[in-house]
Amino acid sequence: MPTANPAYDSNNVFAKILRGEIPAERVCDSKHSFAFYDISPATPIHVLVVPRGAYTDLHDFTSRASDEEILDFWKLVDKITAEQSLIPSGFRLISNSGPDSGQEVPHFHVHLLGGQKLGPILC
Ligand code: AMP
Repeated sequence: MPTANPAYDSNNVFAKILRGEIPAERVCDSKHSFAFYDISPATPIHVLVVPRGAYTDLHDFTSRASDEEILDFWKLVDKITAEQSLIPSGFRLISNSGPDSGQEVPHFHVHLLGGQKLGPILC
């Protein structure tokens, strides 16, 4: 495991889900990653994919996680797109990072959105 990031708040809601302290509706999981439905879905299919490790955002994940964790994460994202029948209709991945993005939960995650025709990305 990498050195702990002092900026990581281990009381965030996704850390609690990963520790089993609060429930989540599991979609699927893998050795290093976990996927669950967003509690407030923006689209008919709205899945959140998180690494099990303590990473705050994409840069933290990419710079500190092992290659095995990173590959495991993106393989799980890809697996979900197939399992949720989002190919070939399509889907969108979003990862908010830092205050300017409005990131609410400071544990790296990717939103996987689909199940309808999506509009343009709004700033
Ligand atoms: P972000 O703004 O990218 O940090 O998005 C955080 C997302 O987490 C939002 O879409 C919330 O609806 C979602 N969320 C917050 N709490 C929970 C929870 N307990 N279970 C599932 N999703 C959650």
